[in-house]
Amino acid sequence: MLPNRGLGRRAGISRVLGVHTTWTTVGDGEFFCPGCGGDRNYQRRTGRKRFVVLGVPVLPRGETGPVVQCAACEDRFGTEALDHPTTHRFSGMLRDAVHTVVLAVLAVGGPPSRTSLECAVGVLRGAGFEDTSEVQLAALVEALVTDAGRMPEHAGAGASLAIELHESLDPLAQHLAPAGRESILLQGARIALADGPYSSGERDVLGTVGAALTMCTDEVGQLLVAAARTPS
Ligand SMILES: [Zn+2]
Repeated sequence: MLPNRGLGRRAGISRVLGVHTTWTTVGDGEFFCPGCGGDRNYQRRTGRKRFVVLGVPVLPRGETGPVVQCAACEDRFGTEALDHPTTHRFSGMLRDAVHTVVLAVLAVGGPPSRTSLECAVGVLRGAGFEDTSEVQLAALVEALVTDAGRMPEHAGAGASLAIELHESLDPLAQHLAPAGRESILLQGARIALADGPYSSGERDVLGTVGAALTMCTDEVGQLLVAAARTPS
């Protein structure tokens, strides 16, 4: 019995004195739970700590949180857990990124060839745009080129494309594994190669894609060369 005496007394004290936190829900939503690993509902909560004597709250001990609590596993996380996109949101970002890259590559150097359009339709269907057709895609590219032509001279098609690519790829890049970044670049490369070797415009666009995906210039260059050597 002797060795337990200290422990028992401490447990006794913590029943008498302690800090109790009352949580208040201040918002909710959906997030990717790092605890149970999936898209879950969360509650955003702030807590008020109180010093407790004999189970009765006496002194306020300040605020705590905000925290994010998973509705499924009930684990609590810092609000930085919300920075990670849900699986659902992430796949949407990925689809949009592929779409932007495809359009950017097609819009370089005049109306795209039949073979480029065919290849692009294949890439887009693979990315989840099942209803895409060559006619629809050709119209989109034409609208894009016309739009860019209306931009002030100092901007032009190249600049507006670069902005679009960065807007679509920058938020995605940090959540992608290296293989995911390569895959997006290579899908663009495939379309560029569909009607022959890369043009200088296509190289520029693919370079911008690589940069927006935070890939270094050498890596992009090597991947593009490797893609050109691989028969499709
Ligand atoms: Zn969870």
